[in-house]
Amino acid sequence: MRCEVCGREIHGQPYYRVIEGGKLTVCGQCSKFSTQEWDPRAPQARKGQTRRRSAQPKPRRRSDIEAAESLELVDGYGMIIKKARQKKGLSVEDFAKQISEKESVVKKLEKENMNPPLNLVRKVQRELGINILEEAETATGTVLTRPMGPRTLGDLIKIKDNSEKEE
Ligand SMILES: [Zn+2]
Repeated sequence: MRCEVCGREIHGQPYYRVIEGGKLTVCGQCSKFSTQEWDPRAPQARKGQTRRRSAQPKPRRRSDIEAAESLELVDGYGMIIKKARQKKGLSVEDFAKQISEKESVVKKLEKENMNPPLNLVRKVQRELGINILEEAETATGTVLTRPMGPRTLGDLIKIKDNSEKEE
């Protein structure tokens, strides 16, 4: 087994330390970087739950379209669609016909109960003359999860400096 910080072979008992939010298995030397331990035998039920990403019964504001074009749906897009549709005097049925979709699709869309494919979003925008997409970069309140895992050597040196200063 190798130390996940310095890469040296660990002789004897490895140390389990949480360093910068990452669970690392480290050698005695590198265990000094952190006092926070984690238990390798503890069941990681939480991790499994958050990883269930493919099945999405819950409505999500951000849809898969952002991955393709770094665009995302604006807040309250369902209401925007609904209002625009009603303004045009269209029933759900009428509108569904207009965009060649099922009524249920329109209903789900207005309730933000689905991850609409980009072509559907574009179709809706065109028919209703609205814009419900925004650039992901300019979106407010969008926080990307910080990548976990091995740190750069620079980070680790920083950690080391800090811990030495504290002592
Ligand atoms: Zn080490």
